[in-house]
Amino acid sequence: MPHEIPGSLDARVAVNRLELRDDVEMSKRYDALVIGAGPAGASAAYWLAQNGHSVLVVERKRFPRDKTCGDGLTPRSVKQLTDMGLAEPLSDFHRYDGLRSIAHGVTMELAWPQHPDFPDYGYVVRRRDLDEMVAERAVKAGATLWQGCEAIEPTLENGIVTGATVKHKDTGTLENVSARYVVVADGANSRFGRALGTTRDRKYPLGMAVRGYYRSPRHDDPWIESHLDIVDRSGDHVPGYGWIFPLGDGRVNVGVGLLSTFSGWKDINTSKLMETFVDVAPSYWGLSADTADGPVTGGKLPTGGSVTPNVGPTWIVAGDASGSINPFNGEGI
Ligand SMILES: Cc1cc2nc3c(=O)[nH]c(=O)nc-3n(C[C@H](O)[C@H](O)[C@H](O)COP(=O)(O)OP(=O)(O)OC[C@H]3O[C@@H](n4cnc5c(N)ncnc54)[C@H](O)[C@@H]3O)c2cc1C
Repeated sequence: MPHEIPGSLDARVAVNRLELRDDVEMSKRYDALVIGAGPAGASAAYWLAQNGHSVLVVERKRFPRDKTCGDGLTPRSVKQLTDMGLAEPLSDFHRYDGLRSIAHGVTMELAWPQHPDFPDYGYVVRRRDLDEMVAERAVKAGATLWQGCEAIEPTLENGIVTGATVKHKDTGTLENVSARYVVVADGANSRFGRALGTTRDRKYPLGMAVRGYYRSPRHDDPWIESHLDIVDRSGDHVPGYGWIFPLGDGRVNVGVGLLSTFSGWKDINTSKLMETFVDVAPSYWGLSADTADGPVTGGKLPTGGSVTPNVGPTWIVAGDASGSINPFNGEGI
């Protein structure tokens, strides 16, 4: 039985309108079309290509591109990247041993545990470097990557998703990409996923976080650091944490994050929270407005598998698009 897209009327109208277009070129048919070349899309593309499937990844930006993040890779991420053959390029980046956790005057240095499956170390890698590395790996495995190319609408045949219309941003040309399966990995806002009818359940926690880079004498510290007792301007504690993650290149990634689990969370100004955190962070990091390296930027963290439906007969939603971030620590890579 044909699958009806459960999306809004607008989404269905957009799809119907598309069927009337005559300004759209047709591409060859792929086994899989992956939308978005962040960690979710690029790793899906890698595994599909590695297993012999023809894969096209469309990415609306061009590498190298940044993505607002804490840049922290836990042992779980390192394992995933190692499984994709990326252990060697990863080893050029800053490796750390565990978490220094600080709250209410107590400091604990918690080394990553010995584990049968996961390494006992992590890395801190700027997303500008990491995402290009993973996308290149997918291409090396046989995936085709179109950069500067945005998926703008799903295409349908008899109610089944059969690909997408993509826009080549340089030329403005539209092209219909046809695929047996579509992997939607377009990040936290997931416009493409919403066009397929996905929604985020607001009962689940949503994270909001901001980060900036700072030059620091402790840029090669062997611990990432988290502060579990962050306060707002009036000195009241807020549910969230601040972090300082050393990059090993002269800089540290500094940020604060909150969960939407308390009333009034929308009234918290995260930029001000960040300023306060930088003011009160331990002096050994040397953080101040003078050591800031670039602007503070922020983003949403959809957590806990909060987006549904995350699968249809011919499509699947992955990564932030499916709300897959761990609500405990904000880990989504
Ligand atoms: C401030 C902050 C700090 C964080 N810190 C950490 C951390 O330290 N460690 C950790 O593990 N996680 C962290 N996270 C979470 C992590 O950044 C995300 O979970 C992760 O990036 C999700 O990867 P993704 O591939 O699903 O999405 P993204 O990384 O957002 O990638 C989506 C990609 O899709 C592209 N795209 C979007 N729409 C389209 C379209 N229509 N057509 C084509 N391309 C499209 C985008 O350009 C982008 O490249 C943090 C998040 C924030 C906001």
